[in-house]
Formats: sequence, structure tokens, C-alpha cells
Amino acid sequence: MTTQDMTVISADGRHAAPDTVLELRHLIDGAWVPSTSGETFDRHAPATGELLSRACKGGAEDTNAAIAAARQAFDDRRWSDLPGSARAKLLTKVADLIDANRARIALYETLESGKPISQAEAEIQGAADIWRYAATLAWNIRGDSQNALGADMLGMVLKEPIGVVSIIAPWNFPFLIVSQKLPIAFAAGCTAVIKPSEMTSATTVILGELLLEAGIPAGVVNIVLGYGDPVGSLMTTHPDVDMVSFTGSTAVGKAIVAATSNTLKKVSLELGGKNPQVIFADADLDQAADAIVFGVYFNAGECCNSGSRIIVQEDVADALNEKVVALSRKVPFGDPLNPKTKVGAIISPEHQAKIDGYVQDAALAGAKVLLGGDALGVAGLSGQFYQPTVIADVSADMAIAREEVFGPVLSVLTFQTFEEAVTLANDAAYGLSAGVWSENVHTCLAFARQVQAGTVWTNTWMDGYPELPFGGVKESGLGRELGPNGIEEFLETKTVQMRIGKTRQMWV
Ligand code: NAD
Repeated sequence: MTTQDMTVISADGRHAAPDTVLELRHLIDGAWVPSTSGETFDRHAPATGELLSRACKGGAEDTNAAIAAARQAFDDRRWSDLPGSARAKLLTKVADLIDANRARIALYETLESGKPISQAEAEIQGAADIWRYAATLAWNIRGDSQNALGADMLGMVLKEPIGVVSIIAPWNFPFLIVSQKLPIAFAAGCTAVIKPSEMTSATTVILGELLLEAGIPAGVVNIVLGYGDPVGSLMTTHPDVDMVSFTGSTAVGKAIVAATSNTLKKVSLELGGKNPQVIFADADLDQAADAIVFGVYFNAGECCNSGSRIIVQEDVADALNEKVVALSRKVPFGDPLNPKTKVGAIISPEHQAKIDGYVQDAALAGAKVLLGGDALGVAGLSGQFYQPTVIADVSADMAIAREEVFGPVLSVLTFQTFEEAVTLANDAAYGLSAGVWSENVHTCLAFARQVQAGTVWTNTWMDGYPELPFGGVKESGLGRELGPNGIEEFLETKTVQMRIGKTRQMWV
């Protein structure tokens, strides 16, 4: 497949990448420390293959020390005893520091993940907003009371922080996802141990610096760098951890549920998706095509909310495909450091091979590759990129229609009736998000009611607000983040029953 009529942005050296290798350490009890083993691991930039950072490789001793620090900081109440308003002020200060450091954070986010710099900047801005939103939650923690238990009894329901939270994050939105969890946990009064993905540690370390600068007390936040084994694994089995808040793959999410069963920790999971966008014949096809292209290529398709499964009414399938292919050719793919780029590099060579495997298997099974389907060469950059890819004639039983491809690859299926559209949309192990396109509000509402998903977009795709809860059903997760109730995940309920006066004997 030729890249002739695709929009490719070559490296032009406009943004120089830092020329020193970033050294990253763990944050334990307020101090930046190396691993006790002295071991390190390297991260190479996905766009160039250049060595970018060298991080201390966490082992069991480092993880235990971080958990002990978080436990101590929770148990001595240095954080949870502060009034919510005091925690709120610190969260707002962190938000201001994130804003002040946006360019630096965005640069490392781009270098490590391969995402375009303009997108990284918008994400960091969005993350700062979540810290501000979390501050409003800290001001508003409240329980309940029950005063109809009789004249001599008053019931009170207190909301208390759950305790020590393990936060385990993926590589696709490193800064944003930690910011969907940590400030809310902090608002509740919890302490935390964070493990960023081994592929994207840098911006979590920068966040750690900002947290100390803002005045978050030592031990309240700890960061351990390293891999699922042993760091992540210990963070899910250690008896001193009260809750695991995880975002990542469904496979690891299931392993975490199994690992936490011995200590019965609370688990909150934000997992994968195979999100359908259903396009009815009466939809505005130009608007839909634009949103489809955004939905599948945003973050190079390495996105839990990727709208990678298009289900279009047969009568308009050819017209829609034509529009989607034409728009796909216009989307600028290439140098992540160029502000015009909309789609950057693929996270690793292994992942690039996985994406390509899905595409080749689908073609062999009879699907039709309308555009792309191969690696994309970008002049001046030796990292891995993948072409915008549109695949039609996909059937519901193909792996490409059922599994997360996590690349810039769109699968198109067709339907005839509303019922068939709903059946196809729900024919998935996942249930993260779904979309519907129709000019008829009744169609949109009926679909929204019947589709199995945590979020439904009607005539739009992938909008997100801190004010609204986010999470998945089925194998896409457990629990909800954000929204006014997002803080509930990090709170325990305690019932207090108070006897008034001495009006009766208890028993005899
Ligand atoms: P992953 O599951 O491979 O890794 C996620 C994190 O878990 C990493 O930090 C990893 O080191 C750690 N880990 C690995 N094994 C572990 C274990 N046994 N115990 C504890 N921790 C372990 O996921 P990924 O490849 O980094 O991210 C991509 C996945 O994340 C996709 O499936 C995507 O859909 C999902 N995701 C979901 C959301 C959401 O909000 N629903 C958002 C972003 C990404």
C-alpha cells in the first residue's frame, strides 16, 4: 500500500529533544532514592529509538519501603486529619504547578509515549483541571444521619478515607491517568504508592517533584519505578495496602482481582474496550466521518476509548467508507514534536508487530483493506509508525472486531435493523464506551438505553469531563472514576450509633 496520498510530517528538527539522558529515581518517604539492588532500566523514544531515560528498577525491598512509608503516613493521620479545605488548597497548588510546568511535562510525555506534542499539552492541561476538580470534592466530604430511630438514638454515617492506595498506571495516558486517581485519593485523605508503566515513568517523577514543591507531606505519596513483577504484584498483595486502583489491560486486571483476593482489598479497575460507533442511515455522515477519524486515530489508536469498531447501516456504508478514507488521508501522521502532527509513533516495536498481525490476519480472513495496512515511514525518524488503516467487510467473529488492536486501525461492520445494530454493539466481552449517530433523538435514546457500556456518546465521540463519572461494564472494569461520586471509591462508610440519655437498660 502506498503512502503517497497520506499526510506524513517528517522530522524537521524544529523542536530539539533534550540531549541528556534523564535519570529517574524512586520517591520514598519524601526522598529520591535509587533501588537497593542498584539495577536500572532504559527507555528509548518510540519516534526515534534514541535513549531517553534511565530509571531505577524497583525490587521487593523498594516496594516494601514505599508501602511502609504510605502506611505510616496514613496511620499517624498527618494527612487524613487535615481539614478537607486544607487538602483542597494543596491540590489547587499542585494544579497551578502543573500549569506552570506544562511545557516540560508535555515534552517528556511526547518523547516517552510518541504522542503528538499538541495533544500532550492538552492532556496536561486537562490533568491540572482534574486536580482543581478534586479540590472541590475535598471541600465537600460529608456523611449522613438518621434521626428516626427513636427518641433515645441517633445514627450517624461517617465517610472516612480507605487508607493506603496502590495506583498502577498504563503507558498510553501516563500523566492524565495518574491525575484521574491520585488527587481524588488525596481529597479523600488517603496516602498512596504509585507505579507508572515501565515505558513512561518520567512524567510521574516530574509530578512527584511538584507534589513535594506544593507541600504534600513526606510519605503521603510514594513512587516506585519498575515492572509488574515484582513491583506491581507486591502492590496488590501486600497486607498493608487497603485498595488497588488500576488502569490497564483486562488480562492484568483479572490477575489483580485474583491477587487481591487473599487480603480482600478494594479494587477499582479501568480496563480495555472494543468500542462500537453505530451509524444509522439518517445520520449526518460528514459529522460522523470526522468523529470516526478522530475516534480511531487519536493517540494512534492506543486508547481505551478508541472507536475502532464502526457498525454502519448497509445503505450508507459505501458512502461513509469513502468519506472516512478521504479524511484519513488528510490526518497528519508523523513527527510527534511537530505541533501540526495529529498522530505520532507507536509505543514499541513489539506493539507495532501486534497491530500489524491483526491487520494481516483480517485480510487473510477475507476483510478488505481500503486504506493503509502497513508500517509508515517518516523521513528523519527511525522509530515505529503505522499507517492510517481502514478495513471493511469485517465480520463479528474476526479477532479484529473483538479484541483491542490498540493502533490506528478501523474495522467496519454493517447492519440492517436497529435490533441488529444493538446486538452487534453488545456482542463483545468489553463494555467501556459506545456511540450512536442519528438525526432522530428517539433512535439515539433507545440505543443509549440498550447498549452495554459505561459511557454512551450520541452524535459525538470521546468528550470527557471531570464532572462526569467514567468507567466500564462487563470486562472493561469495576467502579467509576471522576464525577461527584468518584471520591466514594476512596472512602469507607462507618456507622456510629449514639444513645441519648439513660432511659432504658440494655438487656437485663
Ligand atoms: P498493562 O495491563 O500491560 O499494564 C498496566 C500496568 O500494570 C503497568 O504499569 C504494568 O507494569 C502493570 N502490571 C503488569 N503486570 C502486573 C501485575 N501482575 N500486577 C500488577 N501490575 C502489573 O496495560 P498497558 O499495556 O500499560 O496499557 C494498555 C491497556 O490499558 C489497554 O488495555 C487499555 O485499554 C487500558 N486502558 C484503559 C483505560 C480506561 O480508563 N479504561 C485507560 C487507559 C488504558
